[in-house]
Amino acid sequence: MRSIWLDELPAEPYPSLEGDTSADVAIVGGGIAGIATAYHLALHGASAVLVESRTVAEAASGRNAGFLLAGVAENFAAAARRYGETNTLRIWRFTRHNQDLVRALVAGHRIACDLAWNGSAQVAGDDDEWAEVRASADRLGREGARVRLAHTERSAIYDDDGELHPVRYVRGLARAAAAAGARIREATRATGVAATELRTDKGRIRAHAVILCTNAYSQHLVPLRIRPVRGQMLASAPLGRRVFERPAYANRGYRYWRQRPDGRLLVGGWRDTAVDEEVGEEERTTARVQERLEGFLRERAPDATVTHRWAGTMGFSHDALPYVGRLASGVYVNAGFTGHGMAFATATGELVADLVRAVSRDETDLFAPERP
Ligand SMILES: Cc1cc2nc3c(=O)[nH]c(=O)nc-3n(C[C@H](O)[C@H](O)[C@H](O)COP(=O)(O)OP(=O)(O)OC[C@H]3O[C@@H](n4cnc5c(N)ncnc54)[C@H](O)[C@@H]3O)c2cc1C
Repeated sequence: MRSIWLDELPAEPYPSLEGDTSADVAIVGGGIAGIATAYHLALHGASAVLVESRTVAEAASGRNAGFLLAGVAENFAAAARRYGETNTLRIWRFTRHNQDLVRALVAGHRIACDLAWNGSAQVAGDDDEWAEVRASADRLGREGARVRLAHTERSAIYDDDGELHPVRYVRGLARAAAAAGARIREATRATGVAATELRTDKGRIRAHAVILCTNAYSQHLVPLRIRPVRGQMLASAPLGRRVFERPAYANRGYRYWRQRPDGRLLVGGWRDTAVDEEVGEEERTTARVQERLEGFLRERAPDATVTHRWAGTMGFSHDALPYVGRLASGVYVNAGFTGHGMAFATATGELVADLVRAVSRDETDLFAPERP
């Protein structure tokens, strides 16, 4: 089934590529990563052609929960053990910059995407996680995050986090990119990449640089440490009362829920209950995960009716951070968001566009594709 986001909007088609062409930069992938990359290149006057094998935001970018969180999927304390405290702070600041960018782009281009800043709840699933949630809140509070603890729910409320309609946002940014001169070509599949040329099933694009924004599907074009992992969600019919005050992210990010402004409840995740099954590129819902999602929905709102069930494919990297930067001469990547691309990809689009334009950036090492 289509996601609630894709289902409720009419198509906004772009033409496919018609034969050979040339550009400064060729981009593969019309999700948030590719569209943000095309936007930032076009903004700086580079000619960009973006090819998408399906339609803009039809893959993970049109199937997610629309959370705009700061930080990675893990809480700060757990992330600091993994990346070190200094780098975890740098990553956190980068995602705060992502939030600022989204805010500015939505305002500047008047993108009607229900962007709201109601904050998010980081909910602990067990005692160990609760200790980490508290330590994380304490540390980030000292960094200036507006955060408070809700002891009865064993959660930390981060007041600066946002939520939006992902398809309206990505399509709105695509319109802004096209208005700035980017050429977006749908139903066009990239079949081969070289330093100065992108081959597609509709023609060749000669370009000084090629940027792969192909997330879970990157391995089909280049060897990269990205594996496809499935995520599932459901949505209910609108309820006339508030059930969820703000987006919630629980059990180390494995479970999440929110309520849209129109009253619909969204529940997603529970992949931890079927880790062995939730792999690969098939956008298929399963009874095993959907029963868990519905079980949670029934607990919180017994009268809710499920109207949509869907699945999407995430691209997991080896260390849960995206790969952003140069892969080989003339070939760049902006992918591997590990289920957290709305939190990163508007800003990594800006970052990779800068790197291609030889603008030096402090964050380059954080997401370097060749890191150990
Ligand atoms: C159920 C679910 C819930 C999620 N919830 C959240 C959330 O709340 N917050 C958050 O931050 N993240 C969330 N995510 C993750 C987020 O959706 C992704 O990280 C993000 O959308 C990745 O964007 P992308 O542009 O890299 O990839 P995609 O949106 O997958 O786009 C890649 C595009 O490349 C195209 N492509 C691939 N190969 C080729 C080729 N050879 N030629 C042409 N085109 C090609 C594909 O068709 C696709 O459209 C969720 C994901 C899922 C599945």
